[in-house]
Amino acid sequence: MEVMRRAEGAARLGRWVLGERRIPTPCVMSWVFPGAPGGEVHVAPAWVRTSRRPLVVHHGVLRSTSLRGGGELGLLPQASARLSTFRGVVERWAEGVLALGEAHPESGVMLDGWHFPELWRRVAERFRSRCMLGIAHAGELCTKPRLLVTAVTGVRELASTGTVLYLPGVPPHFMPLLALMGVDVFDDAYAAGAALSGIYLSPAGEHHLRSLGELPCRCPECRSAGDGSRMSLRALLRHNIGVVRSMLAEVRAAMRQRRLCELAEAQANLSVEAKAALRVLYRERQDFLQRYHPVA
Ligand SMILES: [Zn+2]
Repeated sequence: MEVMRRAEGAARLGRWVLGERRIPTPCVMSWVFPGAPGGEVHVAPAWVRTSRRPLVVHHGVLRSTSLRGGGELGLLPQASARLSTFRGVVERWAEGVLALGEAHPESGVMLDGWHFPELWRRVAERFRSRCMLGIAHAGELCTKPRLLVTAVTGVRELASTGTVLYLPGVPPHFMPLLALMGVDVFDDAYAAGAALSGIYLSPAGEHHLRSLGELPCRCPECRSAGDGSRMSLRALLRHNIGVVRSMLAEVRAAMRQRRLCELAEAQANLSVEAKAALRVLYRERQDFLQRYHPVA
């Protein structure tokens, strides 16, 4: 990707070159599944066939040494489906993905094994110049603020400037804080999961749809439902995804207006974990924040 402009901390406004397209970053990738609205850039598991473009193919969990093609960019497999996994599993993944990465030099890499820094660092160092590095289990990492800050700042420091940093499955109120740490790409997995659990996202926090009554948003889905009790799952999904896309538009605007820290602090107040992550970043990683955008 091309970095167009530096903002506060490690934040950067950029253009991600994918196939024929130039996508402004930070941005959201849209998972391809039934009922999901189309987006600017899509991501899908390797077994899904779709005509949506541009497409990033996610190869899931490491099982074999061959990958099927398709899409403009493939992401090499991660170690496991859960954050807490055995060291042996992470060691096998590190060996496997180091070999797989040699055979697929154009692929992006999903990093894993956050409890074993020497293993993820070894993989990240080898692939530091790849077009994309992803942080597996980022949604789970959001419940462990110190591990989250260590992983994101550590990978951003190792990665090349032109490497896109992708964090899947994170709640929207973490996004300004993560953009401040130099994250370029998010996805709508959290928004979709919340919809399936009947959770209505808003810039002011999360609500159980059925207890909401009048809907506080003016998007087409909310205007046509009017009341939480009349909103369908499909409408809730589209509304939630809209909230995430609006959050990223707000993040980009805040970066241009030099108020990203302000936005990150306001949104971090929505959860104890986000507040703790911001505190760890400010108190323990000032060196990281100053390195990319020194404040006189
Ligand atoms: Zn809405």
